Amino acid sequence: MITELRKELDEAKVSSEELFEEAVKKAKQEQDKYNSFVTIIDKYKIKRRADSILKGIPYALKDNISTSNILTTASSNILKDYVPVYDATVYRKLKNAGAVLVGKTTLDELAMGGTGTTAATGVVRNPWDSNRLIGGSSAGSAAAVALGIVPFAIGSDTGDSIRKPASFGGVVGFKPTYGRISRYGLFAFASSLDHVGVFTRSVEDAAIVTDVIKGPDGYDMTALKDDGKSYKNELNKPLTHKKLCYIKEICDVNEYKDSEVIKTLTEFHKLIDECKSKGFEVDGVSIDKKLLEAIYPTYMIISCAEATSNNANLTGIQFGPRGEGNSIDEIMFSARTKGFSELIKRRFVLGSYILQKENQEKLFLNACRVRRLIVDRVNEIFKDYDGIILPASGKGAPSFDKSSEQVSDQQVILENHMAIGNFGGFPSITIPFTFVNEMPVGVNITGRVMEDDIVLHIAKEIEDITGLKGMKAGDRHV
Ligand code: GLN
Repeated sequence: MITELRKELDEAKVSSEELFEEAVKKAKQEQDKYNSFVTIIDKYKIKRRADSILKGIPYALKDNISTSNILTTASSNILKDYVPVYDATVYRKLKNAGAVLVGKTTLDELAMGGTGTTAATGVVRNPWDSNRLIGGSSAGSAAAVALGIVPFAIGSDTGDSIRKPASFGGVVGFKPTYGRISRYGLFAFASSLDHVGVFTRSVEDAAIVTDVIKGPDGYDMTALKDDGKSYKNELNKPLTHKKLCYIKEICDVNEYKDSEVIKTLTEFHKLIDECKSKGFEVDGVSIDKKLLEAIYPTYMIISCAEATSNNANLTGIQFGPRGEGNSIDEIMFSARTKGFSELIKRRFVLGSYILQKENQEKLFLNACRVRRLIVDRVNEIFKDYDGIILPASGKGAPSFDKSSEQVSDQQVILENHMAIGNFGGFPSITIPFTFVNEMPVGVNITGRVMEDDIVLHIAKEIEDITGLKGMKAGDRHV
């Protein structure tokens, strides 16, 4: 964890070069098996004049975050030799803080998808069981932290791409309020839903990293004014916001047949009881089933439409391998045909269809209205509650052969509710809470916009209850 490494560095028990070398060595050792990285950096580089809590701490960045002079592929063939000429804000801030970059992590191509199996450089495997996926899209960042290669890694989250792999990897995944961290230099997927966030092995570490990377930069017009808070320090004050709720329609054990889902929900309700005994007030609230069922299609419509528009620059003309042909259309056609995998093509076809003039009103604008209805309902809940607590996944990570299994409608809601956090830009965190069939499962807490500190604080108290702070893959649940 960052807190431990900080202490060792300060007491000169270890040097930051040694930490870096150790991380690189481990990254290389684990690469064949887990494929966490697209690029492993082998040159130690630090800003010597930096003076921050992250100085000398190794970390990894998702490969859809722009790093000048370092290959940045978004795990797509269409960007396979793209070397940016500018730094993303999150990278610049970490560099200035003296954090040391160890590598760029594998993702589902262009951050679309939730399995960690669609990168141009191959699948990412789950450190707890290499026959299972780690989830995505921030697959490599989750795996690198779960393997203990780095104490923290940066990811991006458009639908749940930090919080779902955090659940499957037994680590902490935090996506702050929309605009809290600048998106400048994050390859846009769906701009109205995209967030930068962080993976760590403790809530306190998530607060520490967020403190360093938050704040506006003048390059992201949706960035929020800095709230001037130290989220780390806020964790040491008494928590006065302890009113939580779960959504009844999602958490009713009797609605499910899958034995692992039933186990997760049973454990979840036990956790709720423990929270209550630790001074939390927790109620079940209702959300209209129709709204819940609309989450996934609404997410798909908005994200595919925005993605199609945002990625229109990937033509093979300015970036990546040139296509063949006699006209610009032929060249683009060939580059895009070769450059994208099936999943991306499918989403761009959907997105183009949704954005066609005659479909815009019925599909895109209606989805935006439904998004608003969902957010309004959730904000109504936040009038009475400080946070919504739900399982981050219905069970542990699926094995590769099961990933395409059909699930019931109920399970679709259970597996996709975290997109609510993106619809409303709400701060949202996943922390490990139990094991089902030997695999970790996370619990998710989502709070009011701007109340990043409170969401972290609630998570910290729940982390104390679970006792699963600081876990690495292989640490057995006792
Ligand atoms: N799994 C979602 C998708 O397929 C989320 C992706 C993300 O958050 N980047 O798009």
